Amino acid sequence: MRIMIVGGVAAGMSAASRAQRFNPKADIVVMDRGEWISYGACGLPYVLGGDVDDFTSLVARTPEQMRARGIGVWLRHEVTGIDAGAGTLTVLDRDGGKTITEPYDRLLIATGVSPILPDWAVTDLNGVHVLKDIPDGQAIEASLKGAKRVCIVGGGYIGLELAENFRARGLNVVMLEKGPDIAGRILDTEYQQQIRAVVEANEVDVRCGTTVTGLTGKAGRVTGVQTGSGLVRADVVIVAVGVRPNTALAKAAGVRIGKTGAIAVNTRQETSVDGIYAAGDNTEATHRVTRRKVHIPLGLTANRMGRVAGVNMAGGNATFPGILGTGIFKVFDLGVARTGLTQADADALGLKAVSVDVRSTDHAGYYTDAKPVHVRLTAERGTGRLLGTQIVAHNHLSAKRVDVVAAFLQQRGTVQDLFDSDLSYAPPFSSVWDVLLVAADRLHREVRAG
Ligand code: FAD
Repeated sequence: MRIMIVGGVAAGMSAASRAQRFNPKADIVVMDRGEWISYGACGLPYVLGGDVDDFTSLVARTPEQMRARGIGVWLRHEVTGIDAGAGTLTVLDRDGGKTITEPYDRLLIATGVSPILPDWAVTDLNGVHVLKDIPDGQAIEASLKGAKRVCIVGGGYIGLELAENFRARGLNVVMLEKGPDIAGRILDTEYQQQIRAVVEANEVDVRCGTTVTGLTGKAGRVTGVQTGSGLVRADVVIVAVGVRPNTALAKAAGVRIGKTGAIAVNTRQETSVDGIYAAGDNTEATHRVTRRKVHIPLGLTANRMGRVAGVNMAGGNATFPGILGTGIFKVFDLGVARTGLTQADADALGLKAVSVDVRSTDHAGYYTDAKPVHVRLTAERGTGRLLGTQIVAHNHLSAKRVDVVAAFLQQRGTVQDLFDSDLSYAPPFSSVWDVLLVAADRLHREVRAG
């Protein structure tokens, strides 16, 4: 059996490893148009900030290690076409310039996402960047030499992580955001404002409600960003305004694309075309709270989808359980996390939801260095079914509490279930009634008052 995998990062490599373990006799080949495979893109901001030594530290498995396990790795090979009827791929060898045709029995499309580039960002000027992969990170690193002022366009989690890491290098940072606040699509308004306060306290110049209209440059190098409210001078510009799934290859092969714009699959990661699977950032998933299809591209989702696809392509039977959109990021000392639905999400879906906010400390107030932690817990009125949580913690590790709620959401648990849970306690870690238990207790009353 020949298993061909397009894309060699989280989803593609998980699939290859899993397929190989499940069926060691299978001929497995991973093709990537780039030079890097099997690395943690999530670590890129921290290389730029200096917490991680270099870009190669992000690599989990080298091509040589994969080859030693019997998995073929073709770098700089771009798949340009799929003939699903014939079961063949058209592959461009980007070094040799040759196009070859390769047969497959099972095919995985794990092509990820591409950063969105608004018209104003399509430029020949040096110093304008996106951050998606290691070459992007290396290009940013090179651009930062001699730079004093960086403008980040977009206040999502990647923009925020970069803001922190650029400040760590002593750079002046301006963040431009079109929406009314940063972290706009991640948290409810009140929580966005808390993040903004901390980011501004760390001397990032945040300008919300600012629309970028163009770039200025001199001698081939960017010098600034034009906005509706004037010119922002910058030596380096980072465009972090979102991503879109890479679906062109799938579309051309007749694979169905879902309403989310990402590739539609069943729980086995099979697409609408026989023998073709999809996994990772380019693929939609079922939200376990709403049962709707969503596109929330995150690392664990990509790895898990790849694992499921790998087993199934190799002849096994695995299913993907769906997602909750559980996410966490650090910005300065803050840990910010969410899982399930925000109150705003629930309102937009027409659910009868109620939320409580609890402001407490991450551990016993009398024990040294207790830091604020704010939790919003959301549930369905009447039934008490948990819908989601948002956490902003002033000691970033404390935001990992989100995982407790994620585990309950996974099991369709109620506020009462959460309240009844036997959570750990000692003064350096939490109060005897942890902030999550306090929130569950209060929310339980609200839900019943419903
Ligand atoms: P990708 O990593 O995008 O890999 C797809 C690969 O396919 C690429 O190497 C590409 O070259 C290749 N490819 C595409 N088209 C072709 C073709 N036609 N032929 C051959 N090869 C092709 N997620 C989290 O959960 N937590 C985080 O903290 C986090 N931080 C992040 C920080 C940054 C800066 C970035 C960029 C991402 C972050 N993510 C985070 C997201 C996470 O990295 C992704 O979810 C994950 O990498 C997706 O893996 P993937 O395999 O689906 O796609």
